[in-house]
Amino acid sequence: MLEVRDLRRTFGDFVAVDDVTFSLPEGGSLAVVGESGSGKTTTARMVAGLETPSSGQILVGGKERGGGRVGSRERRARGRQIQLVFQDPYSSLDRRQRAYDAVAEAVQLHQRPSADEVRARVAELMDMVGLDDRQARSLPKSLSGGQRQRVAIARALAAEPRVLILDEAVAALDVSIQAQILGLLARIRRDTGTALLFITHDLGAIRHISDDVLVMQGGRVIEQGPVASVLEHPQEAYTRRLIESIPKPGWTPQKRAGKAAAGARTIREPRPRSSGGRRRLSTS
Ligand code: ATP
Repeated sequence: MLEVRDLRRTFGDFVAVDDVTFSLPEGGSLAVVGESGSGKTTTARMVAGLETPSSGQILVGGKERGGGRVGSRERRARGRQIQLVFQDPYSSLDRRQRAYDAVAEAVQLHQRPSADEVRARVAELMDMVGLDDRQARSLPKSLSGGQRQRVAIARALAAEPRVLILDEAVAALDVSIQAQILGLLARIRRDTGTALLFITHDLGAIRHISDDVLVMQGGRVIEQGPVASVLEHPQEAYTRRLIESIPKPGWTPQKRAGKAAAGARTIREPRPRSSGGRRRLSTS
């Protein structure tokens, strides 16, 4: 579905992304992890077409995507292939627009539906992301962070993208809400076949959502492979350090956090190794 070859991005003399190569199969789920400044967002932005690579190739559905400026028709066609959800939905949503209208606007952008079709499609998307009628009538300020992120995900899904990029999309949420959104994303992937590119600095979240992981440091990919094998047998000291920074069950601040700790455990507790096949999320 998505193939990235020798992708490179420089800002002046500084190399932000250096020879990054990976592929994401149809319906697959790939995590990109690394410390702050390792080049994750720059990679995601290039894949989404928001940043022009200095060199390298991006193939979507086997077709190379050219750089430079594109017209609105090509932009819409790209939107049907790849959508991006950011960390902070509050800044990407229009504060004066009710959730329903935000999603309806996205539906109308990508097709030319009748009023009835818009209503039916918005209802379907709201149902998919778990927002009820009252929440659909709300402005962003009256929604919780998790509900706002559900609106942003519904807007992205309106385009029926083949690839959904989530750039730290759950990082700002409470752990229990993070688990709900991760469950939602796993369900969407299962039901729609949308491939996920999940960008995060939090390795604790990826075993529930991704099949494979790419570890970035200083703009380069230093390790990649199936999530379970990278988490259990990391080859690089840097990866080991990232894994060691995942809060463990029994970690004191979690004990002190009372109720929130229950939510933390649902996504952070090491789980037994699966005996093969696709991992299912227990927190959905
Ligand atoms: P974080 O997790 O903090 O978002 P990241 O891994 O996503 O980090 P990037 O945002 O991709 O990292 O940034 C990689 C490097 O490129 C950083 O050192 C950053 O300062 C630099 N960089 C990113 N965008 C620009 C830009 N427009 N101009 C100059 N430098 C940039």
